[in-house]
Amino acid sequence: MPVTHALEGPLSVDVLGRQDPELAEILLGELERQSTTLQLIAAENFTSPAVLAALGSPLANKYAEGYPGARHHGGCEIVDVAERIAVERAKALFGADHANVQSHSGSSAVLAAYAALLRPGDTVLAMGLPHGGHLTHGSPANFSGRWFDFVGYGVDPESGLIDYEQMRALARTHRPKAIVCGSISYPRHIDYAAFREVADEVGAYLIADAAHPMGLVAGGAAPSPVPYADVVCATTHKVLRGPRGGMLLCGSELAERVDRAVFPFTQGGAQMHTIAAKAVAFGEAATPAFTAYAHQVVANARVLAQSLAAEGLPVTTGGTDTHLLTVDPAPLGVDGRTARGRLAAAGMVLDTCALPHPDVRGLRLGTAAVTTQGMGEAELARIAVLFATALRDESAGRHVREEVRDLTGRFPPYPG
Ligand SMILES: *Cc1c(COP(=O)(O)O)cnc(C)c1O
Repeated sequence: MPVTHALEGPLSVDVLGRQDPELAEILLGELERQSTTLQLIAAENFTSPAVLAALGSPLANKYAEGYPGARHHGGCEIVDVAERIAVERAKALFGADHANVQSHSGSSAVLAAYAALLRPGDTVLAMGLPHGGHLTHGSPANFSGRWFDFVGYGVDPESGLIDYEQMRALARTHRPKAIVCGSISYPRHIDYAAFREVADEVGAYLIADAAHPMGLVAGGAAPSPVPYADVVCATTHKVLRGPRGGMLLCGSELAERVDRAVFPFTQGGAQMHTIAAKAVAFGEAATPAFTAYAHQVVANARVLAQSLAAEGLPVTTGGTDTHLLTVDPAPLGVDGRTARGRLAAAGMVLDTCALPHPDVRGLRLGTAAVTTQGMGEAELARIAVLFATALRDESAGRHVREEVRDLTGRFPPYPG
């Protein structure tokens, strides 16, 4: 085996295939799976070949602890430019004073936001997990639940909408040090101004965990938390369509605290290939094509919601403002887990999720990935019919699988 390896193009599976056919087979198998089934997981998307090229580049070799111009490692003069570009693009895209693009994931970004603003033992008010809060919003299985005292607000069980009055009452009673707004499954716009008002009233920081909607914000299809929150946390890999990773936005007065909370407090060396890929994605997100994409994502989700309702599956809150929606499959005689299995067998990949009614697992669907593939309202209406068909009758799964294969064949995520 050669001691040096020539770079034969950043995405060359051939190179891997010659050296390690076992792993090359897995890469191709996963590409095949992604290309022939419907990716309805609300948190997933297809990154562009340009983003993948940055990820698979020699920037992956570089150690770069610290920040541009102030690194602990030598040889950072070129990757420093990549990080500066990523920061400037993020600031311009979201109208923020300061951006930190080093967080390895959405969870790392939330950890850094807490580290910047809180002390262990502080009280934090966030959406309860059964209502759509993320693990980092106080799960006992997560650092958040272990190190902070979380109080959960929720949604109205009838409407499914955030109960802002309950949130205000809990804030008045518990006087939290921070309030977190953001969810993994809430399908409606969040009233950031209402959260800001409550935070100001009780003297709390407002942290927006906008991991899901941040791509819609970039495309002008959802309201921005940036003018309201002290710190905004986000992922770059959901609707935003970049590499897996996180970021933080804040005003200049918190910039230094946020940067120190990421490095050196919670992370080591920055992943320069991922940061370069984030810069590429921010560049893509600033184009008119992405604005059109973000609006199409929402239009597609609305059609999906209406079409599911027409199939006897009313969605939570009666619709959606975003890329995602949640539904209880019970009217078709199946529970969430059974439904997920039947849909998987039919080539439709999605998650179960908590619903506001205790002990009910629902299904969460999103339109970010299928919209990237070029599907529009007609295809989403058809997907709703296939979805209900696969749930109603297990034996229809095979027929639905064929139709899914046909549909995905017409909209390949990576043509050629
Ligand atoms: C996805 C998500 C996260 C975590 O992102 P990871 O990259 O998986 O760590 C955090 N908060 C919310 C609200 C999310 O939707």
